[in-house]
Amino acid sequence: MANDVFTRAAWERGLAQGKLLGVRCGDCGAVSAVPRALCAACRGGNLGWVELSGRGTLAAFTVVHVPPTPLCAAGYGRDNPYAAAVVRLVEGPAITARLVGVDVRRPEGIRVGAPVRAEFLREGDRTVLAFRPEG
Ligand SMILES: [Zn+2]
Repeated sequence: MANDVFTRAAWERGLAQGKLLGVRCGDCGAVSAVPRALCAACRGGNLGWVELSGRGTLAAFTVVHVPPTPLCAAGYGRDNPYAAAVVRLVEGPAITARLVGVDVRRPEGIRVGAPVRAEFLREGDRTVLAFRPEG
């Protein structure tokens, strides 16, 4: 399989279908949660798509008051901040995404280490990955 199929666009098509795709190395077994042309562990090119569980734990987060332009256009900003998270997936790799289902005005109530599950947010003609604390 050609490496050029492992694109951000292909990954985003997975999100639109409600799937969190990753890339697994056929040589060493390492899993990446984002598309890449070469294995980060062994630099091999024998990669294939895998569907990830979408489950993990919240490794870190920050509340963003000055978002990048596309999120400003979506209504986020100083008066409507959002949370960005680093999630450690059960399959091993980490991924950054939106964090939803939390009170961004009381970030002290957001618990690092909490179990989270992926959600797929429809925003305009895009699907955006987010995670929500479970339970
Ligand atoms: Zn590898």
